[in-house]
Order: sequence, then structure tokens, then C-alpha cells
Amino acid sequence: MDEEEISIKRKRRKKRRRRRILIRLVTWIILVLALIGLITVVSLVVYGISRLVNRSSQSSEVRTGAEVLESTELPFPDATIPKAAADSSKTASASGQHLEIDLQMLTKNPYSRPGRPLNTVNAVVIHYTASPGGTAAQNREYFEDLRILKTTKASSHFIVGLEGEVVQCIPTREIAYASNNRNDDTVAIECCHKDESGKFNDSTLDSMKKLTAWLLVRYGLEANDETIIRHYDVSGKLCPKYFVEHEDEWKKFKNSVADYIEKNKEALKAEDYLIFNQ
Ligand SMILES: [Zn+2]
Repeated sequence: MDEEEISIKRKRRKKRRRRRILIRLVTWIILVLALIGLITVVSLVVYGISRLVNRSSQSSEVRTGAEVLESTELPFPDATIPKAAADSSKTASASGQHLEIDLQMLTKNPYSRPGRPLNTVNAVVIHYTASPGGTAAQNREYFEDLRILKTTKASSHFIVGLEGEVVQCIPTREIAYASNNRNDDTVAIECCHKDESGKFNDSTLDSMKKLTAWLLVRYGLEANDETIIRHYDVSGKLCPKYFVEHEDEWKKFKNSVADYIEKNKEALKAEDYLIFNQ
């Protein structure tokens, strides 16, 4: 074997070694990638299964009868599932009259939502919030906070805001802590006002009128001095302040409700007079 042959053989051996190393490296890379892929697929499958299991357990919860009633928080005794605001285009009331209601039910608690049934409704009681400039949402928060603060017992079925917005925070099949010894046969409406005088602005008055009218029609009540009352008429409390201090304005309000019912009887009976936002 001459020198040249030996060097050629060495080069070949080197080449073979390099190829073996390369093949081993590529094999390892392929193995690692395959392992990563496998882990990803397995975790995706596990995640998918857990989501499916979650969803089916949730829907089976909703299907149980008593819990449906508890969880849907129906705003009125025989209400069906509340309509979404998107349905407003379908307003059946010929006159185009309707009232939007934001459903923001309070958590059940002994200080503002005791959950006691309200079986009879003989009147609608008008209140003022006695917090100048406070919004409907803020007053609703106050009722909700009583659950924690435990400072007093107070609430209302409805709160009418400074822009005429209406928040419902207690279903009318339950009592509110609003009107002393008339809590068990009345529905309460708290009304927001801008300043100390307690005077209601036109937007607030308009929604107060529509809501009172709807409630009276709903419960088959005539609009009169026995069915539209002030907190003052129940307990002598200065509430709603402006309507206690201005008897003529109070009479005007009651007349406006009667007048509205007279002119919009059909609309008020229409299924979609009230539009619920959740
Ligand atoms: Zn009051």
C-alpha cells in the first residue's frame, strides 16, 4: 500500500464518520419534533374534552326547573324570558310607545332583598331618593351595598334616573323595603332628582308616568288616589319631598298617569310595551 492509497482510505473513513454523525443528528431532531407534536396534540385533546364536559354540566344545571326560575330572575310574576333590546324594532304597540327597563336585580340579602313573596298589588308608591344628583345606577349600588354595610333596611322595585332610565332591582313577585306597612301590597318606584328641592325633571317624570301607568294596567287597577300614592301617604314621611310640598304638582302627576292610560290603553297592554335590557 503506498502513501496515496492510505490517505484516500483515511479520507473515506472520515467522510463515513461525518455522515453517521449527521444521520444521528437528523434522527434526534426528528424525534424531538415528533415528541413536541405529540405533547401538543395530547394537551389540545385534553383541553377540548374538559371544555365539552364543562359545557354539558352547565346546561344540565340550567335545565332543572326550580333553578331556572331562580336564575332567570323574571321581572314580573308571569313574565316570560325578558326581551332583548334588539327586539325594539318589533314594538307592536301601534302608537310606538314603549319603556326600556334595565334589569339589574339585587343579590338576595336580609337588608335590601329579603325574597319574601309579594302576592297582592293594590297600589304604586312614589318615592324620591333624597340624594341630589345621584343616578339610578348609584342608588341601585347603595341598595346592593346594604348587604355588606347592614346599616339599614331599604330598597325599591324600580329606580327612575335623571335621564329617564329605569332600573329594576327587585322582581315584582317579591317585596321591597320601601313603604313601611305597605311593603306587602305595593310596588315601589324611587325617583332621582337633581337638587335639594327634590323636583323631578321632565325625562324622569315621563318615565315615572309610563312605568306607573304600565303597572296599574298590568295589575288591573284604576288610576286614582288609592292606587297612586306617595310614601308620605303611608307614613307621613317627607317623601317624595317635591310632591309633598307641592300638592298641585302631585295632582298633576296623577292626572298625567290617568291621561296616559286613557290615550295608550292598547299600547300598554301590548306584550312588548316594556323592553328589557340585561
Ligand atoms: Zn320614600
